[in-house]
Amino acid sequence: MSKTVQTIHIALAGNPNAGKTTLFNSLTGARQHVGNYPGVTVEKKEGVFFHEEQEIKVVDLPGTYSLTAYSVEELVARDYLVNEQPDVVVNIVDASNLERNLYLSCQFLELGVPLVIALNMIDVAEKRGILVDTKKLSELTGVPVVPLIARSGKGIPELLQTVQKVCQTAPPCQTLIRYGADIDEALRELVPMIEQHKLLGNTYPASWTALKILENDEQIVAKVMLEDMTVGQQLIDRSAALARHLQDTLDAYPETVIADHRYGFVRSILRQGEVTQITEQDRLYASDQIDKVVTNRVVGPLLMAAVLLGLYSFTFNWSGIFVDWLGLFFELLGNVTEFLLPDGPIKSMIISGVIDGVGGVLGFVPIIMFMFFGIAVLEDSGYLARVAFMMDRIFHFFGLHGSSVMPFIISGGIAGGCAVPGVLAARTLRSPKERMATLLTVPFMNCGAKFPVLTLIIAAFFPNHQAMYMFLATLVAWLVALLTAKFLRMTLLKGESTPFVMELPPYRLPTLKGLFIHTWERTWQYIKKAGTVILGISILLWAMMTYPGLPSEKVAAFETMRQQVIASADAPSKLLRIDQLEAKAGLRHSIAGRIGIALEPISRFAGFDWRTNIALVGGFAAKEVIVSTLGTAYSLGEADQEKTTSLKDRLSQDKHWNPIAALAFLFFIMFYSPCLVTVVAIAKEAGSWKWAFFSMGFNTIFAFTMAVGIFQLGNLLGIG
Ligand code: GDP
Ligand code: MG
Repeated sequence: MSKTVQTIHIALAGNPNAGKTTLFNSLTGARQHVGNYPGVTVEKKEGVFFHEEQEIKVVDLPGTYSLTAYSVEELVARDYLVNEQPDVVVNIVDASNLERNLYLSCQFLELGVPLVIALNMIDVAEKRGILVDTKKLSELTGVPVVPLIARSGKGIPELLQTVQKVCQTAPPCQTLIRYGADIDEALRELVPMIEQHKLLGNTYPASWTALKILENDEQIVAKVMLEDMTVGQQLIDRSAALARHLQDTLDAYPETVIADHRYGFVRSILRQGEVTQITEQDRLYASDQIDKVVTNRVVGPLLMAAVLLGLYSFTFNWSGIFVDWLGLFFELLGNVTEFLLPDGPIKSMIISGVIDGVGGVLGFVPIIMFMFFGIAVLEDSGYLARVAFMMDRIFHFFGLHGSSVMPFIISGGIAGGCAVPGVLAARTLRSPKERMATLLTVPFMNCGAKFPVLTLIIAAFFPNHQAMYMFLATLVAWLVALLTAKFLRMTLLKGESTPFVMELPPYRLPTLKGLFIHTWERTWQYIKKAGTVILGISILLWAMMTYPGLPSEKVAAFETMRQQVIASADAPSKLLRIDQLEAKAGLRHSIAGRIGIALEPISRFAGFDWRTNIALVGGFAAKEVIVSTLGTAYSLGEADQEKTTSLKDRLSQDKHWNPIAALAFLFFIMFYSPCLVTVVAIAKEAGSWKWAFFSMGFNTIFAFTMAVGIFQLGNLLGIG
């Protein structure tokens, strides 16, 4: 410890997919912490590690293509750089995609942060025949450049040495970028004004503030105005004059001209400096070749369907045995508890509330884990981006935007997502109407909480071809979501659609480490939720299903019945029957039971009995508890809690349930009101509760109509 100086603080920044997280993972290993940036749901990864006895703290910043104020990620990244002032910013640059990556590097130079360029993926670049002259690149940018293969760890020691060196000498980096006569002139006027009045002086370099004002950056303009209205107005006036002038002469906005010059700067580095040598004539890289097939209009969708089916059959076929083991474990736990604890409310709460409730949710962990693993493969290989690309065409037809695809997928479009981050991801949509249509339809996806319910019902009533049914459920979810979006866009949210351009990242072979980290992160979220929110709701629901207990005269009546049969020959079975009747009467008498019964006259039309109603009402709070509440409702009705048959078997043997009732139930679950947290998220994102209530009411009525239709039609045809 003797040589240890202060902790060095570094930030990893760069384009999405440049390899930041890969580098971050190999630097920090398991010593990492995932949280959120204050106030937004952008993931923040931090970690600490040692290099030659030097403690280094590292942050994985969100990937961005730019540092404008257009997206949350960009704001988060630049605010972090400015507020936290890392000692060194390590800019991860994808060597196989230099031009676009260096565009962002330019902006770090503008911001004047202490920079090191980590030239990553040189293996990929080499395969494509691109050789980068790192020395020359370093000369031309004025920034140290270290070649790297983050995936194999090659170059990391050199990178860390460079980081330490930069840290000790801290050379102030600056841009050599010229933005053209008009803008340069405006900058020359603005910079002294900003310096003289010390506007935002402690945080940003004056030249950067000036540039942002010319770019008409909302955040910076607002900050400047807040500090000094008069000077601020002068700056804005000057900026507006420039904008008018550029409009007249070039028919372009200042930000476009500035961006063009950044690209010009990058291109001149790449070309004049002969930084890169293309050794191969064939510019159609492997990725492009693959994409010709994979995103083909005919083959693409077919392949996509096959991949989804493959994902589901992988999930179900491989996880089965683990699900069984876990089921056995919880059964054992129940039995042990039954044996150890004395009869009474505590025992009932632990068995019916905690073990059945939380166990019901945790029992699905293996399935969830296998599915997340499959999704991680699709995501890390780059295939998911192709899915978004293909869906974009379809989305436009339904009045949505290409940027809506990701919110849909995040919400569970492939399975196992969550509508809350999905709703937040809709922020990337600029058009308010497209955004609203997206917000209102993403909850229709089969999120990770609905997934267990679907799995349970499919396993109980459609045990053959589980993957096929899961696939159909996904198709139906998309169809309903898209049709609803179309409907909304033709009625309440009428308006033009906006264009969308999407670049496809090259395909990559995922690493096992990356896959495991992705799988585990998401599975852990699920487990954490089961241990906290779901545990609370389960206990609350258990209480509602237990209290108030039967009045004493009823209890006494059951007792008398017991006394009467105790002498008879088949006493044990009769006693069991009485226990069952008493438990069921107790449930009917409880708060939850009364709610369920009160709803029965209506819910009957869709085939839901009062116990199902209890689960559905619980599902308003969180869809996860549907399975566990069904479990509790059906196990309370069962006197002999020791002999817990699985819920699946209980349902398939219950007289209220049959395939058609199950189908109606499935449709209802898939489309009724979003869960409470999603509703709150919608209200926040939409800026009003009106739309949040709309989605609760609209979805529930819609789902119920569907369920009634299915149940009645099914009965009419005699399927039930
Ligand atoms: P991020 O979006 O910047 O965090 O990028 P990731 O770290 O998630 O990396 C994106 C993909 O690139 C992953 O599939 C990595 O395995 C892969 N990758 C990262 N670095 C390298 C590299 O040096 N060489 C190769 N071939 N692949 C890499
Ligand atoms: Mg990342």
